[in-house]
Amino acid sequence: MKIGVIGGGQLGRMLALAGTPLGMDFAFLDPAPDACAAALGEHLRADYGDQDHLRQLADEVDLVTFEFESVPAETVAFLSQFVPVYPSAEALRIARDRWFEKSMFKDLGIPTPAFADIQSQVDLDNAVAAIGLPAVLKTRTLGYDGKGQKVLRTPEDVVGTFAELGSVPCLLEGFVPFTGEVSLIAVRARDGETRFYPLVHNTHDSGILRLSIASTDHPLQALAEDYAGRVLNQLDYVGVLAFEFFEVDGGLKANEIAPRVHNSGHWTIEGSECSQFENHLRAVAGLPLGSTAKVGESAMINFIGEVPAVQSVIAVDDCHLHHYGKAFKAGRKVGHATVRSQDRATLDRQVKLVEALIKN
Ligand code: AMP
Repeated sequence: MKIGVIGGGQLGRMLALAGTPLGMDFAFLDPAPDACAAALGEHLRADYGDQDHLRQLADEVDLVTFEFESVPAETVAFLSQFVPVYPSAEALRIARDRWFEKSMFKDLGIPTPAFADIQSQVDLDNAVAAIGLPAVLKTRTLGYDGKGQKVLRTPEDVVGTFAELGSVPCLLEGFVPFTGEVSLIAVRARDGETRFYPLVHNTHDSGILRLSIASTDHPLQALAEDYAGRVLNQLDYVGVLAFEFFEVDGGLKANEIAPRVHNSGHWTIEGSECSQFENHLRAVAGLPLGSTAKVGESAMINFIGEVPAVQSVIAVDDCHLHHYGKAFKAGRKVGHATVRSQDRATLDRQVKLVEALIKN
C-alpha cells in the first residue's frame, strides 16, 4: 500500500518510520527542497495548490493523509475527487480555524474559554469590554507554536493590536488561569472504533512544547475521553486526533484540536504498545487498531534549535533519540528524546539529565 502525505516534515518522517515495517510506501508533497521526510519516501516538490502534482500524487497512492492542518481547503477538495482522503475535508476545515473549532466545542457542550470573533479593532474593543482582561488574541488560522497570538493584560495592550497581528480574522479568548496543560491523543478507525492514549502533561515555554510526561491513572482521563469522543463522532473522524486542554478548577477547558499526529504523542513510539504514528496509519488504511497501553513511565523532551551531542543523549539510561535531520535554526523543532523508566522518581532524574544537555 502506498500512502500520500501532504507535508514532508518530521511528522511525515515518523509516519514513514512506523509504516515501512507494515509494508507501506510513502510519497510526500512538500514545496521545501530540504523536507526531512524525503529521506524515507518519494518527494514531490511542489506547492500545495499545484494541481498537476496533486493529480500525480493521487494517481500514485492508495490514500492521502496530512501531517499539518493548514492545508488549503481547495487542495483537500481537489484530491478527494480522485483518492480517499483521511481525515476528511470537513475535519480539516474545522480544525484549521479557531472560530469553527471553538464554536464546535460550544455546540457539543465542551467547556472552553469565553471567545469572540474579531474582524476589526472595533470588534476587539467590544470583545475586550465583554470578556475582560487578561485575554489572548489569536489569528483564526495559521498560528502554531505560540506564533500569531498575543496576551493582552492592560488596556494599553489592546490599542492597535488587531493591526499588529496583521489585520486578519482573529479570535479573542478569555485568559485561563490554568494549573496545568494536558493533551489526549485519540485514534478512530474507519468503522468508528475509538482508542485513547493516557493523558499527557505538557510544559510549554514561549508557546513551544518543551516537555511531555505520560500520566498514570489521571483523574481527568475519563472526562477528557468523553469530550474527545464527542468531537470524533461529530466529525466522523478517521485517524489520530490530538486534543489540548487546560486543567482548571479540577476540570478541563478545551484549548484546541490538531487533526493529525502530535508532538505531545511522540513518547508513544517507545512508551506504548503501538505508537500514534502506527495507529494513525492503521486507522486511515482500514487496518485493526493497535493497543494504546503505556509501557512503563515515559517522558519526551523536545530539542529546539539544535540537537545536543548524540553520544551524550544516548548515554542517558533508556533514552531514545530522534534526530529529524533538519538544519539547526533558533526556535525550530529539530529533534526529541524519549526517556523510559519503571518508576516516576527515576524518570524525573532521567529528564533532568537530558535537560542539562540543552544549551538554550
Ligand atoms: P495555542 O497555540 O492556542 O495552543 O497556545 C499556545 C500556548 O499559549 C498554550 O499552550 C498556553 O500555554 C497558552 N495559551 C493559549 N491560550 C490561552 C488562554 N486562553 N489562556 C491562557 N493561556 C493560553
